[in-house]
Amino acid sequence: MYTDEKGFVWYKGNIHTHTTRSDGKRSPDEVIDIYADNGYDFLVLTDHWRQSPDNESERLLTIPGIELDCSPNVLDGIFHIVGVGMDKEVDTSKRGIGAQEMIDEIRRCGGAAILAHPAWSLNTPEMILPLKNICALEIYNTVSDKPHNARPDSSLISDMLSSRGRMIPVVATDDAHFYDGDQCKSFIYLKTDVLDRRHIVAALEQGNFYASQGPRFSYEFSADKKSIKVRCADAREVAFFSDAVWSADRVFCEAKGNKLPINEAEYRFKSNETFIRFEITDFEGRKAWSSPISLSDF
Ligand SMILES: [Zn+2]
Repeated sequence: MYTDEKGFVWYKGNIHTHTTRSDGKRSPDEVIDIYADNGYDFLVLTDHWRQSPDNESERLLTIPGIELDCSPNVLDGIFHIVGVGMDKEVDTSKRGIGAQEMIDEIRRCGGAAILAHPAWSLNTPEMILPLKNICALEIYNTVSDKPHNARPDSSLISDMLSSRGRMIPVVATDDAHFYDGDQCKSFIYLKTDVLDRRHIVAALEQGNFYASQGPRFSYEFSADKKSIKVRCADAREVAFFSDAVWSADRVFCEAKGNKLPINEAEYRFKSNETFIRFEITDFEGRKAWSSPISLSDF
């Protein structure tokens, strides 16, 4: 956790990971120890169709989690939905239900529903657009990267959704199964004044979080709302994404004439842009991602 310059506290958590309760290679206690030893403030064990108990460790806060899936085939939609923070038991006898029904079941039980790894699942924007009440999608999923997979990054899908007016906040998670390098890489910083199940669900529903592998940032709009300024610790690159296909000044990096390290980057909006999001990369190649921000009120 850290406290930002305005005094808000941000807690570090991984909200998607597996144990021997389903197909993970480490026991719940071992996984809890791994994340506690690496400075995490909270952890959500999300085994397949198996809900984890509330608060099962002294070492760090765990809250209930589960991962539901429907996997007919790629064209009919393979969807994995992560449920976080339920206060009732998800009805796991309902295996075979569709994506919206899985989301509805998680929410009926008091949890927040997250669309897992859309790039890995080959979810197109058209498949995702009809889904209601997902509070976030995974823009980055560690286990979907090498060596076990090679499609961890869903940022293009996020941008295509935002371009169609659907700005879904983004999280980064490990989805660790093997614990051979797929752990303790991608996480969220979550802003809350109290760290417990109820406040984590509320913060997820309200978008009070951002995705990271290490970098921290803050941002603000100019008084005339014509630009956004990002502040971060020493970055190698800051890139802004929008629905303008061409923008001459969207990347800040050495090759663009920026002096390294980058601690501040300001981007002026173009007249046709309806959303903006940004990514920060540090000198170790670790990223942080903002959620898409609507510019329609500007
Ligand atoms: Zn998973």
